[in-house]
Amino acid sequence: MTPKPTVHDYPAVIVGAGGAGLYAALELARNNIKTAVLTKLYPTRSHTGAAQGGICAALGNLEEDHPDWHMYDTVKGGDYLVDQDAAEILAREAIETVIELEHMGLPFNRTPEGKIDQRRFGGHTRNFGEGPVRRACFAADRTGHMILQTLYQQCIKHGVEFFDEYHVVDLLRDEASGGETRGVVAYRIADGEMHVFRSSAVMFATGGFGRMFKITSNAFALTGDGVAMCYRRGVPAQDMEFYQFHPTGIVGIGILLSEAARGEGGILRNDGGERFMEKYAPTLMDLAPRDMVSRAMYMEIREGRGIGGKDFLHLDLTHLGRKVIDEKLPDITEFARVYQGVEPITQPVPVQPTAHYAMGGIPTNTDARVVGDEKNTVVPGLYAAGECACVSVHGANRLGTNSLVDILVFGRRAGLSIAADLAGGGELPALPADAADQVTGELERMRTRPRGENAHKIRVELSEMMMDRCGVFRTADGLKQLTLELRDLHGRFANVRVNDRGKVFNTDLLEAREVGYLLDCAEATVAGALARTESRGAHFREDYPERNDTDWLKHSLAYRAEGGPDIRFKPVTITKFEPKPRTY
Ligand SMILES: Cc1cc2nc3c(=O)[nH]c(=O)nc-3n(C[C@H](O)[C@H](O)[C@H](O)COP(=O)(O)OP(=O)(O)OC[C@H]3O[C@@H](n4cnc5c(N)ncnc54)[C@H](O)[C@@H]3O)c2cc1C
Repeated sequence: MTPKPTVHDYPAVIVGAGGAGLYAALELARNNIKTAVLTKLYPTRSHTGAAQGGICAALGNLEEDHPDWHMYDTVKGGDYLVDQDAAEILAREAIETVIELEHMGLPFNRTPEGKIDQRRFGGHTRNFGEGPVRRACFAADRTGHMILQTLYQQCIKHGVEFFDEYHVVDLLRDEASGGETRGVVAYRIADGEMHVFRSSAVMFATGGFGRMFKITSNAFALTGDGVAMCYRRGVPAQDMEFYQFHPTGIVGIGILLSEAARGEGGILRNDGGERFMEKYAPTLMDLAPRDMVSRAMYMEIREGRGIGGKDFLHLDLTHLGRKVIDEKLPDITEFARVYQGVEPITQPVPVQPTAHYAMGGIPTNTDARVVGDEKNTVVPGLYAAGECACVSVHGANRLGTNSLVDILVFGRRAGLSIAADLAGGGELPALPADAADQVTGELERMRTRPRGENAHKIRVELSEMMMDRCGVFRTADGLKQLTLELRDLHGRFANVRVNDRGKVFNTDLLEAREVGYLLDCAEATVAGALARTESRGAHFREDYPERNDTDWLKHSLAYRAEGGPDIRFKPVTITKFEPKPRTY
């Protein structure tokens, strides 16, 4: 008999305690709504803490800047797949968000007059593309760490209730009532006990899924749990084919060296010492958007101009001097010393593109309400924000420093939407006694299966095949092969077993569960990539190298279905900026 779970009642439940989840929780606390924040990691270990370079806002502290310029850059950077109503909100609310962080005590770097300092970042320009602008606010190269600490302190101050190391494993929806949200099921990592959180308002803020690629800047925990749980419960995944590779990862391991290094003047060079970005983006050069720089790097490597003919290039910081490096880039230069044995003050740093950011995810409207179909019909009681969501503010390619703004602007909006929806009070939804049985059974079978497949092996194979056939360059043949390979991996995964049979801190079991989420995210990504017969932003099809607005200026929606995802489409919202050729 399945053991009975412990049941908790909360008007609002947030899954995830990174920047998006914390800002939503803070807003709910300010509105006196009793909220549970569930997180598989201790909150301050969330991946927001790894964000390095900055958070952008058109403050204009060092030179003229305007939210409209920021909006334009975001739309153009996203290769016009951005929903422009969302981009406008992002650019305008970025300013009040950064100022609120400052008032909460976030220790931003300062100008000599005491204003928040700002630096350049890829694709951010003055006057609609004329040249780079200083828009990124930063706390050295530890901006995300400071944001996470600041918001966590505020949440504690406002009495938010945290359930740390509760791994959410299922979303509860009531099919009979048209899919109303009923809560979530969580697995308590400490002792393997199941917990049901009954709630009519659930927000996902579970971050990205870079771990489906072999070389990635993402931590081990970034496995797309929220996207996959919603996908399994009938919510489509939007624009999954757009996955960003960041140009400057540490060779072989993918740890990120922030774009701030180029924002401060760093230069990418090939084997001949040539500043090759001059050829590919004559105006912005090294500060062109990431999709373009990563592709240019692979072109250099393919044409034999990688360092020593190998698959990496050099990031040259040697002309910046010790003071700039020590004051503005201390962490990432330390990474180069520790992981590569290179001294960035005097030596160029070897770099290669690394899988970094998911533009796609759970579809939402601009109030962070999840929308479940091509007509943007709201899913009652379900909300999402941050990297797991697709609002869609980044379109086909995100600009650097736009994610930290996104998670906070739309995290906050999620909190406000939930508060508005709960304003009338009311009863919590009824839940059947067997609400947790399905997922409990799945976990128990995995934990106790005597023989079966090794989850780690599946994870490694998945990450290698995604890297090879669904990375920066894609072809129909590669994607078709990958579709079959993924089907095979899914089949093997159904028979997965784990070594740890215990219940106490069984991370073996949970890591195996995460492989299933990665497989779902990969399946949706590959289906979208195969369907989209054009090149746009981070999605580059060698067999269809041009952008095709006539047929493809639309979002994709992948619905889970027997025999592989069903791909449907919905229009892009265009308000101020008509699509134009994208040059820098
Ligand atoms: C190395 C690096 C540097 C970056 N630098 C920048 C930068 O300078 N500027 C910028 O704008 N962006 C940057 N980014 C991107 C940005 O940091 C992320 O997109 C953003 O922080 C994501 O925040 P989030 O709140 O959506 O999720 P996260 O901060 O990833 O938090 C996810 C939360 O979900 C929880 N969770 C996940 N699954 C479950 C589950 N099943 N059950 C319970 N809890 C769960 C986790 O415990 C965690 O609390 C960087 C990214 C990386 C990897």
